[in-house]
Amino acid sequence: MPEIKAVYNSKTVCPVCDSNIEYTKVRSKAIRLINQDTDFCPYYEGENPLLYEAVICPECGYGAHVTSFENINRYDRQKVRERISSRWHKRSFTGERTVEQALEAFKIVLLNLNEIEGLKSEVAKICMRIAWLYRYMEDDTQEKKFLKYALDNYKEAYSQEDLTEEGKLDEYTCLYIIGELSKRLELYEESTQWLSRLIMSYSDPLQKPKIPQRLIESARDLFQEVKDLVAATKEEG
Ligand SMILES: [Zn+2]
Repeated sequence: MPEIKAVYNSKTVCPVCDSNIEYTKVRSKAIRLINQDTDFCPYYEGENPLLYEAVICPECGYGAHVTSFENINRYDRQKVRERISSRWHKRSFTGERTVEQALEAFKIVLLNLNEIEGLKSEVAKICMRIAWLYRYMEDDTQEKKFLKYALDNYKEAYSQEDLTEEGKLDEYTCLYIIGELSKRLELYEESTQWLSRLIMSYSDPLQKPKIPQRLIESARDLFQEVKDLVAATKEEG
């Protein structure tokens, strides 16, 4: 029996240049999540689907997260044509990806988002993934740099965007992530402030049913952990 590869190519039409293109996906049967960090960075046995989430059109350089590739309005399409496609050299992005290749693809997506002035929540999502790729590569400096971009964009998304829209991180998970990222960047005061907002929302009977039990437990654990870190720092000082 021939061995079935974990990755395969899927077909789509690029919404910017209308070319028929292919992009690589991981077979859902081949996906085995074995662990996740406290900021949701995933670890897989075998092929890692995260590496394939940045979809790039080989013809025109348009790139987006796989979940939003088709959702680009007419106005932004024009911006991509003018600012990305005009200086794009055709190249292929299909096939198995290394972490380095995935990183390059995600950076093209980020470039697209910058040029079209994309939603802060989308920019944050891409920056998080770039930070995780650097974590896989054990590049602490670059990881922190992109966690900081993610943090800044999540904070703006929280105050500016309607996070009840489909496909977006809900407002409670957003609060948790802001608390978690602040902790990772050693902004402890900030971290506890954002986590308190989440913990307080849970005591509101109207909001409580909207907050998953597991999220509130993680938030309480994290809140305590940050408090302990602050106490330890004070003792040392
Ligand atoms: Zn295209």
